[in-house]
Amino acid sequence: MEEKILIFGHKNPDTDSICSSLVKEILDKKMGQKNVEAKRLGKINKETQYVLDYLQIPAPELIEKVEEGQQVKLIDHNEFNQSVEGIENAKILSVTDHHRIANFTTLEPLYYTAKPYGCTSTILFEEFENQNIEIEKKEAILMASSIISDTLLLKSPTTTENDKKALEKLEKIAGIDIKEYGLEMLKAGTNLDDFSEKELISLDAKTLEKETAKFVIAQVNTVSIEDVLKRQKQIEEAIEEKIKEENLDVFVFAITDILNSNSEIIVLGNKLDAIEKAFGKKLENNRMFLEGVVSRKKQLLPVIDKNI
Ligand code: MG
Ligand code: MG
Ligand code: MG
Repeated sequence: MEEKILIFGHKNPDTDSICSSLVKEILDKKMGQKNVEAKRLGKINKETQYVLDYLQIPAPELIEKVEEGQQVKLIDHNEFNQSVEGIENAKILSVTDHHRIANFTTLEPLYYTAKPYGCTSTILFEEFENQNIEIEKKEAILMASSIISDTLLLKSPTTTENDKKALEKLEKIAGIDIKEYGLEMLKAGTNLDDFSEKELISLDAKTLEKETAKFVIAQVNTVSIEDVLKRQKQIEEAIEEKIKEENLDVFVFAITDILNSNSEIIVLGNKLDAIEKAFGKKLENNRMFLEGVVSRKKQLLPVIDKNI
């Protein structure tokens, strides 16, 4: 039997990582490459579960590591610390991503598609178009869901014209009211009640490492920042523990209001001055309100990275 090629997004998978992996599998198969299979590197979040339930399709299978020489295609990430265990010794055939490129080297040549769009699915959408491959309802909804998730219904500053155009076309193919569907999907992801604080701070967390610091930026979406702040004390305890465990300099926990497009961040660690400098604001009670900030990639990471 032909060896399977595994397609997967980053750890702590979000909707883009899961849906774009499923779409990449569909696209590759439609282009004649049959031995591809979407996988996932972590638990499905509630927002993504909403999409899978809507389409009545199962989640990709969970994998925890890959063997040496395993053929893989990376989706929605490139940094090895966000990828599967064993990635250093895997054979990376391709990357389809919309993030900065860092901590990434390969032994062999590869296909690398990087576009500064709001979402990986927008890149895939354009591949369907460029290759003249039919987009069916299922993949239209998968790609639309990714775009809605990553751009918060086109409201995030990461949104590009390409994302808007893609979503417009996908809405027609999907035959659904994207705004209505999108809000339901985003809201499904904001029910944080049955997560422990420890889970909350790792649901969507990215660890960044540079010479001067190791830090985490975690993010949760909500329709009420106040509601999440009711658990501030317990959240801080969980963060403190994480800082000790992983020897972090700073932990930033962003609580993002998806309806009003603002965030409150809770920050702990030993480089708090760097965070205050980054945003030109003082932390009060370990917290800071950031008006108009919703994007980790564009509004949190670069400013923190520059100042830390
Ligand atoms: Mg992602
Ligand atoms: Mg993405
Ligand atoms: Mg995200």
